[in-house]
Amino acid sequence: MTQTNQVVDQKVLKVEVKAVKVEQMSDDAEETKPSKKKARRSVKVDYSGEAPAGWEEVYANIEEMRAGRTAPVDTMGCERAHDPAAPPAVRRFQCLVSLMLSSQTRDEVNYAAMLRLRDHGLTVDSLLATSEEELGELIKPVGFWRSKAKYLLEAARVLREDWGSDIPDTLEGLVGLKGVGPKMAHICMAVAWGKPVGIGVDTHVHRISGRLGWTAGCKDPEDTRRALEAWLPRDRWAEINWLLVGFGQETCLPVGPRCGDCLNRQLCPAGRAWAPSPRKGASPRKGASPRKGLPSPKKEAGASKGGSSSNTSI
Ligand code: SF4
Repeated sequence: MTQTNQVVDQKVLKVEVKAVKVEQMSDDAEETKPSKKKARRSVKVDYSGEAPAGWEEVYANIEEMRAGRTAPVDTMGCERAHDPAAPPAVRRFQCLVSLMLSSQTRDEVNYAAMLRLRDHGLTVDSLLATSEEELGELIKPVGFWRSKAKYLLEAARVLREDWGSDIPDTLEGLVGLKGVGPKMAHICMAVAWGKPVGIGVDTHVHRISGRLGWTAGCKDPEDTRRALEAWLPRDRWAEINWLLVGFGQETCLPVGPRCGDCLNRQLCPAGRAWAPSPRKGASPRKGASPRKGLPSPKKEAGASKGGSSSNTSI
């Protein structure tokens, strides 16, 4: 890791920890919440940059399973939520808004809120002309809608005053906005600006990378991001979030992954330990998951609500 990247990581974590103190509302906040179990971690995280054996075949299989573009993220992700006829700066702002709404919220709910906002008028100025109460009514029932209404208005004010009503074009600028964490900032850089400077890791990417053995020992999405960035070729950084989010929505589910339908069943450590449930036919064998060092299905239960992104820039 270069010195510059280390500085950015430190700043990102500093801003994010500050956001956690303000309010523990977003999945990014959850992702960087200090773990009480940190001292008990038993698996060493590998940041060496050595790619896991056979990852390309596994990755290609996921691409094949995602070829139909049938997951919610494919039609309702942040790159689909903006008004394509709007000017570029407005499209970028709408992408950021979609990401800010997406934490702890299903894609369907998030997309419906974005359509209501677009009908209302979704520019920096139109948001600032909207009361917090009205904005809350427009975006609910997205998760934490009260806090998000507050954060959106504050972000809009900062964008108008400091960024000419556009969004920041740097990671540091984006995470400097309240309610925006590293995951959102990385996705926003890739989708809104077409500049992937890191990997957007949400609960889907964190969970699936762990199950595949790509990021053993990573306790949270920030760990996973650093571990993945150490070996995944840069030309995959923009797409991997979108790829794994959709895979996690359809096949590698947080609870009861459909390993029987997965092309990676024999290549994936969790898949090799999987066996059909006698009753449900698609649940992991008792005791097979969670494996040591991997996120447990119980902890992952909220992951199905995770946000989304794609490799398509706007
Ligand atoms: S085999 Fe199962 S756990 Fe592994 S990637 Fe496929 S669905 Fe996920």
